[in-house]
Amino acid sequence: MYAGRTKLSIGRLACIGPIQNTLLESPMVELIPSQDKVMQILQRTGAFREGHFVYPNGKHSPHYFQMPLAFRYYDTARVLAVALSRKFRLEKDISSQLTKVAVISPSSGGIPVAFGVRDALNAEQIYWAEQEHGERMFRQYVNQGEVNPCIIVDDIIRSGHAIEETVDLVKSLGARIIGCGAIVKFHSAPAEVEGVPIKSLVDFDARMYDSGDECRDCKAGTHEEQVRF
Ligand SMILES: [Zn+2]
Repeated sequence: MYAGRTKLSIGRLACIGPIQNTLLESPMVELIPSQDKVMQILQRTGAFREGHFVYPNGKHSPHYFQMPLAFRYYDTARVLAVALSRKFRLEKDISSQLTKVAVISPSSGGIPVAFGVRDALNAEQIYWAEQEHGERMFRQYVNQGEVNPCIIVDDIIRSGHAIEETVDLVKSLGARIIGCGAIVKFHSAPAEVEGVPIKSLVDFDARMYDSGDECRDCKAGTHEEQVRF
């Protein structure tokens, strides 16, 4: 009897070591990873790419973010969304209004971010906008007065144009913006929107050339890739 119990406790003790180590190494414990760590995740998943890219607006760049590649892995998506949610929770105007908050995505790319942030904050509502006839809209029958105070989240903010359109949409429905953020924000994006600072895990100083004439990679004659967004 006694021997059996000893064996059991040894077994338990033997388990504790590896479990603790796993927890310590788990990215979930480190709730706001450094910018370098986030960039490593984006590079590893293929979301951050280096090369010679041409955007639909004709601009050339030596780097490109295809963020859904990071969000295709559930664990990575969770780490990134939880980290962003921590930045929101630090804001008193947000934490004091939870759970009566809406998390809003300006487009399809931000939907997994919005679901992850909603989950981490236990916010009550989620919405995402879509482009219809060149206009950013929610689905039909979302009515005036139904939308909780909003946190707008996206996977990446480049110019801030999509965010600004979403702000107008949200305001037209009578809702207030209490937060805004993305996993990656370019330096070219505005620092705040509606008096609310734009949060991000990575502030990226994107190198952009207005045309091929100015592009260093064009001059070097390297192969160019057209990107769709
Ligand atoms: Zn070029």
